[in-house]
Amino acid sequence: IGENLIIILEQHATQQQIGRVLEVARQHGYLPRSWSEPGRIVVALLGSLGEESEEATFENLAGVNCVQQFETRYELSSRAYKSEDSRVSVGNIEIGGNRFIVAAGPCTVENKEGLSATAEGVVAAGASIIRGGAFKSRTSPFNFQGMGKSGLELLFQVSRHIGVPFVTEVVDPKGVDLISKYADMLQVGSRNMQNSALLTAIGRSGKPVLLKRGFANTIGEWLAAADYILAEGNNKVVLCERGIRTFEDDTRFSLDLSSVPVVKHLSHLPIMVDPSHAAGRAIYVPALAKAALASGADGLLLEVYYDPSLAHVDGQQSLSLEQFNSLMPELKAIALAMGRTV
Ligand code: PEP
Ligand code: MN
Repeated sequence: IGENLIIILEQHATQQQIGRVLEVARQHGYLPRSWSEPGRIVVALLGSLGEESEEATFENLAGVNCVQQFETRYELSSRAYKSEDSRVSVGNIEIGGNRFIVAAGPCTVENKEGLSATAEGVVAAGASIIRGGAFKSRTSPFNFQGMGKSGLELLFQVSRHIGVPFVTEVVDPKGVDLISKYADMLQVGSRNMQNSALLTAIGRSGKPVLLKRGFANTIGEWLAAADYILAEGNNKVVLCERGIRTFEDDTRFSLDLSSVPVVKHLSHLPIMVDPSHAAGRAIYVPALAKAALASGADGLLLEVYYDPSLAHVDGQQSLSLEQFNSLMPELKAIALAMGRTV
């Protein structure tokens, strides 16, 4: 494996000189990215498969000031690569701006009535994206795997009827084309965070992506996974913290809210928080949802069901519409204190 290189160009390098550096980089199998910083132009060369050091190749090109090797766990998702916060549009909704975005809905689409009643209820209470699984990545093959294409069609019908976008999970690279035809945002589940074939296929789709954190992955590994999508030229990536595995067993996972300020420091990507899968019990969800907003997250992914006792999947962690209705004004009050809106 070759090395990653950072090329610093002269402050007054011409467009032709920059173009030549990019051209040579591509010829050598690199994925070049260039940007300007005060007083310098930088080109990052990522992942050549060449076996020898190629620093000299670039040092001798016109306009080049110096060439440095670098080793990072992630690059395109880093603040070093892009200093301003990224914003991702999903339908008419923008994630990563001043407005705190709430995506809510069933864990899994189980039937039309349940989906419609839930989606209408959450949107009436202020949710701006509908969530729901049609293709699920379950821990056991003997658990319900979702309704598949018919669930996707129901999500599409209901979301278009109400007029808000929806996010749904993709579990297989072969499913990306089909799901992309319907969904406004593709979700990568925790169990698939490091499925590089899936990440690459989703990157190529160009669709907005909600990349959940693997429950046994570090923040560095999570950002490196985001790089797989970004490397395909798809910059519409939103991260989603959903809890990690610890020794604690009174909650399903431990919600790692420290990842929010850490991601904000290390990365330009927006970050949402899913307290439902972390808590595993509906009664713990409102407190964690409010803490997520207070920690600086850009939005929430919440499981809500019109009657949680009827949900076959994740009913125990789904808020009822009543619980969701009382959470929303509390979020608005916290957002106001932070100079944000919901
Ligand atoms: C989900 O959000 O439906 C889900 C399955 O979550 P996770 O991948 O985080 O377990
Ligand atoms: Mn679920």
